[in-house]
Amino acid sequence: MPAEARAAGTGDDDSPVRLGPPQTQEWPDGDWVVRQVPGAAAVKLYRCPGCDQEIRPGVAHVVVWPAQTPGLAERRHWHIACWQRRPRRSGPGSYR
Ligand SMILES: [Zn+2]
Repeated sequence: MPAEARAAGTGDDDSPVRLGPPQTQEWPDGDWVVRQVPGAAAVKLYRCPGCDQEIRPGVAHVVVWPAQTPGLAERRHWHIACWQRRPRRSGPGSYR
């Protein structure tokens, strides 16, 4: 067990398990940074904003946040399928 269980220096994540590399995706409502969360890194229960269902611990999913306003508070956890199925529309009132 290495002494450096918590890597100092990256500072971009609070998870002890490495996530996938961040990818920037372009959507009608802006650019979003998407990272894959492997099942081993999913240790908490989240609620998917796409289907309003729970993402249970151990389920691989994605975490996304707006590229313009990076920050932990803006993070959202989605089922992979729900994120990819996100309607590509830019109608009024759906900006946030
Ligand atoms: Zn979902």
